[in-house]
Amino acid sequence: MADKVAVQAEKLAALLDEKRVFPPSEEFRRQANAPDPAIYTKAGRSLEDFWAEEASRLDWFKQWDKVLEWNTPWAKWFVGGKLNVTHNCVDRHAASARRNKAAIVWEGEPGDARVLTFGMLAREVNRFANALKSLGVKKGDRVAIYLGMTPELPIAMLACAKIGAPHSIVFGGFSADSLRERINDAKAKVLITADGAWRRGAVVPLKASADQALEGTPSIEKVVVAERVGKAAHVTMQSGRDLWWKDLVANASDKCDAEPMDAEDMLYILYTSGTTGKPKGVVHTTAGYLVGVSATHRYIFDIKETDVFWCTADIGWVTGHSYIVYGPLANGTTTLMYEGTPDYPDRGRFWAIVAKYGVNVLYTAPTAIRTFMRWGADWPAKHDLSSLRVLGTVGEPINPEAWIWYHENIGRGRCPIVDTWWQTETGMILITPLPGLTRTKPGSATRPFPGVEAEVLDDKGQPVGPGAGGYLVLTRPWPAMFRTIYGDPDRYVKQYWSRYPGKYFTGDGAKVDADGYFWLLGRVDDVMNVAGHRISTYEVESALVDHASVAEAAVIGRSHDVKGQGIASFVTLKEGVQATDQLKEELKAHVAKKIGAIARPDDIFFTSELPKTRSAKIMRRLLRDIAEGRILGDTTTLADPTVVSNLKQQYEEEGKSD
Ligand code: ATP
Ligand code: MG
Repeated sequence: MADKVAVQAEKLAALLDEKRVFPPSEEFRRQANAPDPAIYTKAGRSLEDFWAEEASRLDWFKQWDKVLEWNTPWAKWFVGGKLNVTHNCVDRHAASARRNKAAIVWEGEPGDARVLTFGMLAREVNRFANALKSLGVKKGDRVAIYLGMTPELPIAMLACAKIGAPHSIVFGGFSADSLRERINDAKAKVLITADGAWRRGAVVPLKASADQALEGTPSIEKVVVAERVGKAAHVTMQSGRDLWWKDLVANASDKCDAEPMDAEDMLYILYTSGTTGKPKGVVHTTAGYLVGVSATHRYIFDIKETDVFWCTADIGWVTGHSYIVYGPLANGTTTLMYEGTPDYPDRGRFWAIVAKYGVNVLYTAPTAIRTFMRWGADWPAKHDLSSLRVLGTVGEPINPEAWIWYHENIGRGRCPIVDTWWQTETGMILITPLPGLTRTKPGSATRPFPGVEAEVLDDKGQPVGPGAGGYLVLTRPWPAMFRTIYGDPDRYVKQYWSRYPGKYFTGDGAKVDADGYFWLLGRVDDVMNVAGHRISTYEVESALVDHASVAEAAVIGRSHDVKGQGIASFVTLKEGVQATDQLKEELKAHVAKKIGAIARPDDIFFTSELPKTRSAKIMRRLLRDIAEGRILGDTTTLADPTVVSNLKQQYEEEGKSD
């Protein structure tokens, strides 16, 4: 029986096998930061030597004694070393020829823009670091940050890192309840927020939400309030507790010594997106994290001294921590941060920004790319995108059709695409192409980064053969790995290191093809079991997105009397396409043709929007709740809770299509 399933899974996988291959151009390879495949063998031979060499690009107050101490599952990297993250990201550049180079380019909601050079950033960070000290913040105290995408956000982070106070950033779109929960979990002493934030020309009342959250947060002593929206928000300040940012820094010195931190001191806590359940407080430490994010940023994005790097994530997510702030700034790179949304004031906003600043490297998410596809290629076509050299994606598996669209319409056929797989827990990118070396295949994150080892295992812990699906695990430690779950070391061990003892359990499904390339299949819970066939939601979604009428699709397994699980699909159509019963049949036939009759969806349900987390991932577990007629699970991390409640209602009214 097991054999039969494996054979069928292989057959299935083979049918979806991607034949298109994109080798890097010789011209690109020649100038690449990683031009030689020996980087893989070298790192494979000695993890310690490889990472020690990367670590030597940083400034250390005291050199480490030992690169790695690995007592599974507890890791210590650069044992005995002392350094400071902000010294490395800001001060050493401000003291060099990079002093007047742009560190942060900030594009605000239409009309606003600000550039901070490394010299200016150093002074702003020092002032705010001194302000935090004046509030009694000491090394080890946790500071919660609840801000929109304004320069105060990286300034606050870097000020915390400078004095050794771990930050815990809560995405500015979160509700008061979510903020309170995270503040209490981290027992933060100070909260940094703003009067409000701009979103599509409207005000998000951050301070008002913060006030609500603060009704139940006994650990908070002081609240710092930055000004962003002024009179557009009505702010009440609680005397003795609340202070304006501008008053605090007005008389603060712009000199501040960097706290020498132990390599393993905590740098920050960050809560995961909550796609699969309750968010976890992921703990990252100082040295390994900085070495990991700076090295991956340099090699994977092929960063050059003159590049403008734009990661479109929000700093409230790990992608923003690692690849808007810490990675780029450690490398002395100009990093762009954007306050607004892709469709305000119009749908060409991203491309206007690329043209305005001459962005060289763009790092965004598959959801964004699918949205751009839906809006049509005319929007990017209006803008000069010739500055782009490398394109990246992260957050979800990218459907091959979206990859090709990105390649053609944004990269104009010239730019290598790096599909980067990683997690809040991993801190840094782990499975990815290197743009000068890897022959990419649309939809595959390709190979583990040098020094990283991944396997795909079956239920019993045996590696599965080429083409078969299984569980993705990591078998060697990497420097930016999280060290624990804040306040819950048991959960760290149980959730991540117990399923396959000694191996890190990612919670994601994957398959490896005959070339050793990894194909991410989404969450383990997103793999369906249809009449004994293991079918991944991602494969069915990609087949649906492959159809010319479909913009986006979310697929789930729902209980089925005969088959065990049936396939239900929620589909968003491209603009101007009519949702008809005939189209439903056509889509079912299309999937059957692409993957096989076994993958033919049982239900197709048209919807104008899919429920997504605030980090823009499709939340399939809520769709499962809808399809099964259950009460909706935790919805606190949803971007827009009305999407899912409307969808539930609509689903119940229309019933299932079959
Ligand atoms: P939670 O763990 O709370 O459920 P989450 O896993 O969505 O939330 P993140 O750490 O932000 O929180 O996301 C990491 C996950 O995103 C990965 O485990 C994987 O499922 C998905 N992912 C990220 N990048 C890729 C990629 N390039 N290809 C496929 N999946 C990806
Ligand atoms: Mg996760």
